[in-house]
Amino acid sequence: CGIVGYVGERDCTDVLLDSLSKLEYRGYDSAGIAVFENGEITVEKAKGELKNLREKVAEHKPMGHCGIGHTRWATHGEPSDINSHPHGNKRVSIVHNGIIENYKDIKNFLIEKGYTFISETDTETVAKLLDYYYEGDPVDAIIKTLKDVRGAYALGIVFKDFPDRIFAVRKDSPLIIGAGDEENFIASDVPAILKYTRNYYLLEENEIATIKSDRVEFCDMHKLPIKKEVQVSNLDM
Ligand code: GLU
Repeated sequence: CGIVGYVGERDCTDVLLDSLSKLEYRGYDSAGIAVFENGEITVEKAKGELKNLREKVAEHKPMGHCGIGHTRWATHGEPSDINSHPHGNKRVSIVHNGIIENYKDIKNFLIEKGYTFISETDTETVAKLLDYYYEGDPVDAIIKTLKDVRGAYALGIVFKDFPDRIFAVRKDSPLIIGAGDEENFIASDVPAILKYTRNYYLLEENEIATIKSDRVEFCDMHKLPIKKEVQVSNLDM
């Protein structure tokens, strides 16, 4: 039900947990994070309140500077550790808000291609479809995947081969890009990032954002660049 992401100099796990706490008002049944640690995607997730995730993280804290986080409101698959987001494999990891309507078709297609699934979620099918289409260019894989997917989504995506960046897209679910100084964010809603910056970009339907610490780039489904103006929030904190 909430998505966050961070890339920059700060301790990524701390920022993700803090931002997720700002989205608690949206309601959730589980939470998780994926952080680049020594070039690998490290995932921690837990059913229940954020404090359960915090306890797991206290035992083994992913140390890194780029990652994504999620609070889940289950629609497909009961609330459980395994069904919690992020989903994916060693190469790609995603957090998702919304519902993938044709996930069964995608799942059957991928099973035929040799993929296995560990959760009951609609989300895992999108993660593995991204992996299926990935041939070295994340944006190409995202475009191919979105063409196959029907439903509502805000997605935060990381690829193992690109540990310095987050990718984000949305359709019928909210997502903004927070613009900091040598650090950038994604979030379902502005309050999640207000502690760090008031500047943000609005992401429109089927625009693809590539977020690094020093720049944010946008393109459309034909990979054509899009220019955006920064918005400034005047929300009180
Ligand atoms: N449909 C996904 C799930 O059930 C995402 C739910 C959400 O928006 O949190 O896992």
